[in-house]
Amino acid sequence: MARLDDVIEELVTANRILARENVVDSFGHISVRHPGNPQRYLLSRSRAPDCIEPDDIMEFTLDGAAVDGRERAPYLERFIHGALYEARPDVMSVVHHHSESVIPFGVTSWKIKPVFHMGASIGHEVTVWDSHDHFGDTSLLVENMDMGRDLAEAVGAAATVLMRGHGATVAGRTIRHAVYISVYLELNARLQKQAMDMGEVKFLTPGEVEKVRGRTGSYGINRAWENWCRRAGRQFRPEQSESRL
Ligand code: MN
Repeated sequence: MARLDDVIEELVTANRILARENVVDSFGHISVRHPGNPQRYLLSRSRAPDCIEPDDIMEFTLDGAAVDGRERAPYLERFIHGALYEARPDVMSVVHHHSESVIPFGVTSWKIKPVFHMGASIGHEVTVWDSHDHFGDTSLLVENMDMGRDLAEAVGAAATVLMRGHGATVAGRTIRHAVYISVYLELNARLQKQAMDMGEVKFLTPGEVEKVRGRTGSYGINRAWENWCRRAGRQFRPEQSESRL
């Protein structure tokens, strides 16, 4: 099992990378399932990702209650994370963000689909969850477990979901994997829009998506991670083979 301190350092690095790579801005967050207790997760206090330090990381039960809050204010939308961990034992890290290029695809009939091989990790087609379907007029924020569970149901077995008029949520098997999918979801959306502006788009076929995803192992993800650490000014640490990270 990974040491808790190491997991917290990795989570801080992930926050800085997501900020540097334009997945999150002042808003958005990433969590990791607790390495010693699958019924809990780790997530920063409510703070912009690029500002986050190890002491900001809080521990939550899956229903979103802080274990030792020390009067730190949590993110309102933490229920996204707990609901995903509750529904998906295979998910070890969750990213929620409002990255700019994905938003138009949540409010039109165009679906995000991989337009290049690096986009295959997002899945063959990204589902759109509309909070209005079951909850009517809301602030669009996932502010309780009912909304979190409804979102998790829309995610199903997938790695990505868009949220209409709001953003996206990504589920990964490690912190690095969740960051990887998030970065390429944003880039794929941007490139897809450019391609659509030029004419008819030939997307990757479902078979191509499966073949690329089958090759996306820790080797490629760690290569990207080292580069992103450099760009974010964070120390690169080799992945710990004995851990779920
Ligand atoms: Mn949000």
